[in-house]
Amino acid sequence: MALQRLAKEYPICDECIGRMFPEVEGENNRERGRKVREILGLRETEGCAFCRGIFQRLDEIVERFDPNLYEFRTFVLGTRLDKELVKMEELLWERLGVVEGVETLKKNINRELGKRIAERYGKLHDPVNPDMEIVFVTETERFEYHPKPLYLYGRYRKHAPMPQSKWPCRYCKGSGCERCDYTGRQWRETVEYYIADVLLGLTMGKGTRLHAAGREDIDARMLGNGRPFVIEVIEPRKRYIDLEEAVREINNHGGGKVEVLCLRPSSKREARELKEAKFEKVYVAHVRCRGGITEEELEELKELEGVIISQRTPERIAHRRSDRVRRRRVKRLSWRVTGTHTFDLVIEAEHGLYIREFVSGDGGRTRPSVSEVLGKPCFVELLDVVEVRGGEECGG
Ligand SMILES: [Zn+2]
Ligand SMILES: [Zn+2]
Repeated sequence: MALQRLAKEYPICDECIGRMFPEVEGENNRERGRKVREILGLRETEGCAFCRGIFQRLDEIVERFDPNLYEFRTFVLGTRLDKELVKMEELLWERLGVVEGVETLKKNINRELGKRIAERYGKLHDPVNPDMEIVFVTETERFEYHPKPLYLYGRYRKHAPMPQSKWPCRYCKGSGCERCDYTGRQWRETVEYYIADVLLGLTMGKGTRLHAAGREDIDARMLGNGRPFVIEVIEPRKRYIDLEEAVREINNHGGGKVEVLCLRPSSKREARELKEAKFEKVYVAHVRCRGGITEEELEELKELEGVIISQRTPERIAHRRSDRVRRRRVKRLSWRVTGTHTFDLVIEAEHGLYIREFVSGDGGRTRPSVSEVLGKPCFVELLDVVEVRGGEECGG
């Protein structure tokens, strides 16, 4: 028999024999292998040419795994085979023939090592949503650790002018230089920095990525129910952090400028969905009109309700976007005089309406507009987003 001839040339372990005989009855490869060995009267060998003795040293190998490097509860394990083991597996398959149900060496190692890591360290194997990807490298018989990013969902408010995302210094690209006062930051304050500073402290992660449902202008405030976001923490050393404490710390750090309304575990999928979401928004534009404005005059604004506004690409962004006409409906308008020349305009509109241009008219590029209807030039001094309609609300 082929196996007897092979066993004369190479040492082979029970696991590797059993793997090649899936039709033999037995609980596992090791048992099947022992049975076949006994039937054929083959001697047991020291080591094995086909797994380099890995299956005989599993307990010892598992001790090299460091469960404290990264916090995790669930994992998936993969094996990177070196060339020699790949060659030996080909030889094994060639000499013994492959029948249905024969497992690959890789799969065999994954299962046996995975089982031991789970038992030895009290972890759960979860191929669908693991906290960590562990790679066993056969060449060194060591482990690689690839913690999955941590995703957290929340909603933020912003009360001071600043960009949303991190903004590294353009000279040093974030490493820190004289020009940025060694902060690595072009903008010292962004919403992401305020959230990330705290989360990186708590998780000891490598960095963050902010995925939000749209963004407001740098000088616009984000109020009301807050803007939904998912923040991704890259390579967190700790991931089961106290999220309520994290919210408190962020809001403390935010000093009234940035606020997070809640945090809960999230996923890569939710991050992607949020980024693509087109949520309706409610704005409050703080408007100033040349020549003053009265309550009676503002009544004219009624005719803009329910109207579709045509907007050529605004002058201010025409240099980076092609000139097109965008049509968006203004659903509802309400207003309140706040001074002799100023009023607040509450605007509910379809996703994508350029609010500043809707007010100013943008030199005739947006029609109809608030300025046109009122018959006097008006412009937005400050624009606030007061509601984002979409995404999970924070604790009611
Ligand atoms: Zn073996
Ligand atoms: Zn710099």
